[in-house]
Amino acid sequence: MALQTLYHSREQEILDDFLTFLRFASVSSEPEYGLEMINCLEWLQHYVEEIGFTTEIWPTSGHPVLFANWEDAGRAAPTLLIYNHYDVQPPEPLEEWVTPPFEPTIRNGQIYARGAQDNKGQCFYVLQALKLLFAKHGTLPINVKLCIEGEEECGSHGLMEVLNAKRQQLQADYLAVVDLDIKSPTQPALTLGLRGIVTFDLEATGSKIDLHSGYHGGITYNPLHALVEVLAKLRDNEGKVTIPGFYDDIVPLKKSEVDKLAMTFDPQGYFDMCGAHATGGEKEFSPYESSWLRPTVEINGLSGGYAGSGFKTVIPAKAHAKLSCRLVAGQDPDKIGKLVAAYLEAQAPEGIDIAVTIRPGGGPACRSTVDSPLTTAFATAFAEVFNQPCEYIASGGSIPIISALAETSGSQVLLMGLGLDSDHIHAPNEHFGVDRLEKGALVVARGIELLGATHS
Ligand SMILES: [Zn+2]
Repeated sequence: MALQTLYHSREQEILDDFLTFLRFASVSSEPEYGLEMINCLEWLQHYVEEIGFTTEIWPTSGHPVLFANWEDAGRAAPTLLIYNHYDVQPPEPLEEWVTPPFEPTIRNGQIYARGAQDNKGQCFYVLQALKLLFAKHGTLPINVKLCIEGEEECGSHGLMEVLNAKRQQLQADYLAVVDLDIKSPTQPALTLGLRGIVTFDLEATGSKIDLHSGYHGGITYNPLHALVEVLAKLRDNEGKVTIPGFYDDIVPLKKSEVDKLAMTFDPQGYFDMCGAHATGGEKEFSPYESSWLRPTVEINGLSGGYAGSGFKTVIPAKAHAKLSCRLVAGQDPDKIGKLVAAYLEAQAPEGIDIAVTIRPGGGPACRSTVDSPLTTAFATAFAEVFNQPCEYIASGGSIPIISALAETSGSQVLLMGLGLDSDHIHAPNEHFGVDRLEKGALVVARGIELLGATHS
């Protein structure tokens, strides 16, 4: 039977199982969801075993990792490692959800629930693809390993800890990271790169205690003023980051790779989606060049003094900022972190102490191997399933663990997925299309068939 016919013959069961997966409130960052995390993991482990895989739970200091493998294709066949995560973001603000986040509901062909897309939806169609292949062929054409972690949404610390010890088990020819997007529901795309990230806390201190702005204004240096003055020095009028050395280590994409990227940007479509204008990047680069191929510094939060509804004439003792940098290939998060911290601390005006702390959980940028047999197989599979040639895009986002996982497993990377910008991931009313659940399963199943064919 054809893959699609098989899928349709089981669609009700597939949807029922998916909704069960979504009902677990597997929020990794909040301790009160601990039991839900365990229940979700146990359900998933059982589900993966039913498909025909051998499973292992890898304990960590945080939430465990589910590892599974099926290696009966033999030593001559290639091995594909697939990465997903079973944890989700917290659901708040609850009052903005049309239906509750852990009571999945299908409306107008969309499945609404926390995790419906990120990443349970994308994880679940991978599992359906494997089921389809077993149903159609009774076997898989290649060896497949699954690494489904439980801390992607809070820093991947557990997986990072065990990577070295599990090096042997993780060995693979290819790594498919199934947590990415396409640009429209009808336009298939593969992602050639993800940016890296490093994040910071900044504290500016001016005095031991909050001070009266009448008695002390004009005498002491206000740390909030120091904060905005220092932060204003991060970028020039052209949108360039002014920190010396910030751009030095960038390894640009080859021209042949840049030419593959679909970088046409639709300013009106962008405005309609989020009400913002595309004016934030470096002036000499287009919006997608800036977002995909260039690093940034962003201020993510500012606090200090009094910001309530009344008024208080205060010079605060301290002011705080939260900052992040998105990084591109070649930039080392540790090195850039130190560069940024030293620059900001050195800009402190006399009388103000500025201390910058680099937060844990950063990671370098990651690139797909453009011409690997895996990329070719999945591009062809996408084109077949969507009946439309596959585009190549990049992502401004970051999955810090991926570079380390690719290095540990010794594999060529492919970044793929069927998410859409409009899925509201990490936000109220997250959703995923019933149609994309099916297409995802067909793309992955067909991609695996094609990858198998290149080696047989
Ligand atoms: Zn996420």
